[in-house]
Amino acid sequence: MRLKIAAGNWKMNKTYEEGLQLVREIKDATSHKEGRHVIIGTPFIHLKDAVKILIDSPWVDVAAQNCHQAEKGAYTGEISTSMLQSIGVNYVILGHSERRQYFHETNETLIQKVDAVLGAGMTPIFCCGESLDIRNEGWHARYVNGQLEKSLFHLHESEFKKLIIAYEPIWAIGTGVTASPEQAQEMHASIRGFISDRYGKEIASNLTILYGGSVKPANAAQLFAQPDVDGGLVGGASLTCENFLPIINQL
Ligand code: PEP
Repeated sequence: MRLKIAAGNWKMNKTYEEGLQLVREIKDATSHKEGRHVIIGTPFIHLKDAVKILIDSPWVDVAAQNCHQAEKGAYTGEISTSMLQSIGVNYVILGHSERRQYFHETNETLIQKVDAVLGAGMTPIFCCGESLDIRNEGWHARYVNGQLEKSLFHLHESEFKKLIIAYEPIWAIGTGVTASPEQAQEMHASIRGFISDRYGKEIASNLTILYGGSVKPANAAQLFAQPDVDGGLVGGASLTCENFLPIINQL
């Protein structure tokens, strides 16, 4: 059975105190459910103390929102995978469209980041997704497959099967426009099929593929009911327990 995941992405939001308060609220409001996992993607400053808060609630984990690909060195302002690993972080969001757009992350850089995260024993949550122009031109499936192929298909199957994929159409991120359940399902099935062609049916059918893009309490149930949608990567609606909890509870 595939793991169902509700992953929050706080982006650059929450002071230290606000963030830890929200981590405590999510922890207290949730409990273990077989086959379900909750992940909170916090800014770097919250990670260490969030890990401590969550030590006795293994159904909730934290994720970093980025890392640098190099092991260490003269990269002012960056954070390495060994630093994250040393404070107990298990997940790293990679390739979010905002990082691709504002910080010029390329498919090629992402190869190195994926390798660094896996090499440190952590799990990448690898984001992919097309712009509105590409969707309107009708080659969204090919574009997303290209992102996967270029950044992930060098991996050995023993590594590839550790990944989590997040399909996030850029036109739906932070816009309030959600992909319809049918659009999400179509892309998730396409991604799974493409992965199956490369890595085989077993790996593809065991892979968790999240949908991201304006997931809200009101639309989560329909999205998560799709057979190839295994949960969500949630931005805005993960910033309060009031909104995130009903989304978690749809899994
Ligand atoms: C995201 O940041 O990954 C995201 C999906 O944001 P939102 O839910 O706000 O669209």
